[in-house]
Amino acid sequence: MNITLTKQNPVLLETECLMVAIFENGLLSPAAQLIDQATDGAIKKLIAQGDFTGEMSQIITLYHLPNLKAKRLVLVGFGAQDKLTPALFVKAAQTAFSALVKLPAKNAACFFSEIALDTTDEAARVRFLSQLAEIANNKFDQFKSQKSDKTYLLADLQLAATHDNPIAIAQGKAVANGVNLARLLANMPCNVCTPTYLAEQAIKLSHELTNVSVQVLEKEQLIELKMGCLLAVGQGSAHSPKLIEIHYQGAAAEQTPVVLVGKGITFDTGGISLKSPAGMEDMKFDMAGAASVLGTIKSIAELKLPINVIGLIPTAENMPDGNAYRPGDILTSMSGQTIEVNNTDAEGRLILCDALTYAARFNPHTVIDIATLTGAIVMSLGYLFNGIFSNQNTLAHELIVAGQKSQDLAWHMPLVEEYNEGLKSHYADMTNSCKLAGAITAACFLSRFTKAYRWAHIDCAGSAMPSDMNKAGGATGRPVPLLVEYLINVSTR
Ligand code: MN
Ligand code: ZN
Repeated sequence: MNITLTKQNPVLLETECLMVAIFENGLLSPAAQLIDQATDGAIKKLIAQGDFTGEMSQIITLYHLPNLKAKRLVLVGFGAQDKLTPALFVKAAQTAFSALVKLPAKNAACFFSEIALDTTDEAARVRFLSQLAEIANNKFDQFKSQKSDKTYLLADLQLAATHDNPIAIAQGKAVANGVNLARLLANMPCNVCTPTYLAEQAIKLSHELTNVSVQVLEKEQLIELKMGCLLAVGQGSAHSPKLIEIHYQGAAAEQTPVVLVGKGITFDTGGISLKSPAGMEDMKFDMAGAASVLGTIKSIAELKLPINVIGLIPTAENMPDGNAYRPGDILTSMSGQTIEVNNTDAEGRLILCDALTYAARFNPHTVIDIATLTGAIVMSLGYLFNGIFSNQNTLAHELIVAGQKSQDLAWHMPLVEEYNEGLKSHYADMTNSCKLAGAITAACFLSRFTKAYRWAHIDCAGSAMPSDMNKAGGATGRPVPLLVEYLINVSTR
């Protein structure tokens, strides 16, 4: 989509679709006021007769209004003006753009950026709108024999702005491209998206982008590296496990990299500790962390951020099989620490622990792992917040601030010594799971492999997955916006 800025009067703008904001209690945004005056009070009449109240996410489309050059006028409710927050602004804009892309309009002009909003400037609003429009304009219909009509996709979008904001548009589009890639990969069915497929997509990405290179470590190399946990999780599958290593070099080689480690379980049956059938199809999303790493690399490479980032994706399929690993097995991780498996469904932390040990060789500035790790984080935080765990409070704080700025929200969860109690094993150095405080004990497990560096763990089992409410929307592509924001901050330090 081509996104440009306009300073024109909305009344005079020739477009297929004008979008303006209306607040509760009959308060009109500046663009809505101009349109109302030019159209003999068309908007105020609508409000007076009770057809439009301006409540959050209310939408109405008007056609061929007198004295208006635009073919359609879409009024969008932004709720109470004095209660508007960045989160509500994003919510209203999301609803508006998903309605817009269902209209047979190829171009549109949106005036939401003129809305004054505390803690955001015009550039931030232009960036959000560019990002949200690109995300809404993306359809996942690869597996429909009848394709949805692509001609309805929006080709041109104008955003009202008083200043030139070229960086804001570029950043919004880059984040959206990363989010859309992460959504595409996560939505792929597990008979297509295997460890091999993920590796191929990483290689494809390296060909499309500059300064990106990939190497894929195959089973033989994992054996040489003694990655006993990653190998064990993958041994019940017909598809061999792999470690995908993707390098983005945007700064001098001596600058220490940020390492992103993404959980890439392409399908999680639970293994011998088999999951119940209800909702098991959603376990294709168990590689959403890996997808967010590839999406983030795409975004930052498009933005040419002056930073070095390494993505590590341990990938495997967790299947029950005659050769599958079992509860009771004792595994030796790459770190040398031994693990008694008490639940084969706690496989994510096993593939991550070997990748986290491997990460130390890059002398990292920071390591962040991203994983749909536990159902317990969904019980704790639902679908709204990413769960953040860290061995340094300053890092957790930086990630939470990045989450607020990008509206990809995150919550700081506790990571203290006491919770390690639950991982005690009679036979090995630790067990791999503990039901009590499941999200926290999972993080405690990972923390035993990350002592050498500054580390954070993002549990995105809620945030990356389709929530009950919008399951039709599929994967969310989170936490790509948070990660890109964080990396922008690191790169400008
Ligand atoms: Mn599992
Ligand atoms: Zn899993």
